[in-house]
Amino acid sequence: MKSDSVAMTALGSLSKQGVVCIFGTGDFGRSLGLRLLQAGYEVIYGSRDPTNSTLLPKGAKVLTHQEAAQKAKLIFVAVHREHYGFLTALAPALEGKVLVDISNNLRRGQYPQANAEFLSTLVPGAVVVKAFNTISAWALQSGGLDANRQVLICGDNAEAKQGVVDIAHSLGLNALDRGSLRAASELEDIPLQLFPMWRLPFRIAVGLLAAFFFYVLIRDVIYASATEGKDISFRIMVSLANKAFPMVSLVMLSLCYLPGIMAAFLQLYNGTKYKRFPDWLDRWMLCRKQMGLLALAFAFLHVLYTFAIPIRYYVFQRRFTFTATLIKENKTYEFDNVMAWRSDSYLAMGMLGFAFFVLLGITSLPSVSNSLNWREFSCIQSKLGHLTLLLCTAHAILYGWDKFVKPSAYKWWTPPGYMLSLVVPFLVLSLKLFLITPCLDRKITRIRQGWERPGNAGKPNTKSSQPLIL
Ligand code: NAP
Repeated sequence: MKSDSVAMTALGSLSKQGVVCIFGTGDFGRSLGLRLLQAGYEVIYGSRDPTNSTLLPKGAKVLTHQEAAQKAKLIFVAVHREHYGFLTALAPALEGKVLVDISNNLRRGQYPQANAEFLSTLVPGAVVVKAFNTISAWALQSGGLDANRQVLICGDNAEAKQGVVDIAHSLGLNALDRGSLRAASELEDIPLQLFPMWRLPFRIAVGLLAAFFFYVLIRDVIYASATEGKDISFRIMVSLANKAFPMVSLVMLSLCYLPGIMAAFLQLYNGTKYKRFPDWLDRWMLCRKQMGLLALAFAFLHVLYTFAIPIRYYVFQRRFTFTATLIKENKTYEFDNVMAWRSDSYLAMGMLGFAFFVLLGITSLPSVSNSLNWREFSCIQSKLGHLTLLLCTAHAILYGWDKFVKPSAYKWWTPPGYMLSLVVPFLVLSLKLFLITPCLDRKITRIRQGWERPGNAGKPNTKSSQPLIL
């Protein structure tokens, strides 16, 4: 049986910058030992081979596990879970000690029990704390901890956790208590995650890109080949890409705002904000930032590809031929005022839209958003966001200009690609316009402030996990 009083006695003397033991002289053990030594701790390694200490940081001692265990109150177990077996024999020496389990697995659900819980069953007399598993050995050693500064900690003994928190702080890290040891499997799953918030936006981006690219390929290249026998396949590289990128960007930008609008309609329909949104809507809202950043990436590509247009061989050749024809036929190229307006407005909308889009991206960076209060943040993301969507939509409309009335634009009875990309933005902007009409706006504001339609109040509902940015 684990005795709290034994652990308290053990921890009572766990002073800052005291002796810390590390079992295992591998990558993590060495990196952690180095940082601990730099922070002023005395580090003692427990190893199967105490004579082999060549790679260890200077100043650290290496002993057998048994000897090392007796020297320190707190022991980091920097050994893979598969090798925990040796700890059973050490159980008497580990009685009352704090064992910090830093282990990770290769895949989720690899073992029925979390590694830290398994450790506490192997050494029941010790107090097990799960921590440091989300920090990599490389980041510890190189000091590149900016994006990796948080140590997640869980365990059943508050004092033992405090001892680990103190160590984390003295290494310049932040510590976050994630509760009891039952949270260990959750912590062990964190390093196995691969961009969980980016998966859905990434799939949407790839799906949209493939669909739009295929669409413009059929309408431009395949159509020209089938009807006129012309080979313009070279356009795949720049022209078609530069048609598909802005289309994906515009649709994805509007997809950032659509779930907020849907949520507002749901709240109006339910007459309360205290009802949970469907899971798919919750998930959608959670990845709006990633969706927006991917949309921004496609906008960047559009800008880069557009800058490259004047240096394209195809454009150069066409301009040259056109100029030569004018000279040959002794004609002048008349200035078209309408065309000048159209082209300048199209460029102005695009440039302004892109500038605001970049601003939105910047404010989504944690360092910037942390300096804003919720009102400022939601004001930028909502008001500036919708303005950006409006400008980008206007950019696409001006690009098409009067194409939509020209039958020749409907090759094989299909509308030009830009028209397809306008469907979702139009929907979002019209619904938004509808939502900001005074009567609906008043109603939704009341609901957000906690008002409930009579009959809803008191019903056992669960709030959505997502704060709304509309
Ligand atoms: P490693 O380089 O393979 O080192 C593991 C150490 O465990 C070995 O150097 C060895 O030390 C000891 N060991 C090996 N077999 C053993 C056995 N049969 N019995 C007893 N001890 C044995 O692994 P690591 O990368 O340092 O990882 C250590 C732990 O930290 C793992 O649980 C890992 O999941 C976790 N972790 C690692 C990182 C990382 O970035 N590397 C990040 C977070 C968590 P001796 O020869 O001195 O006995």
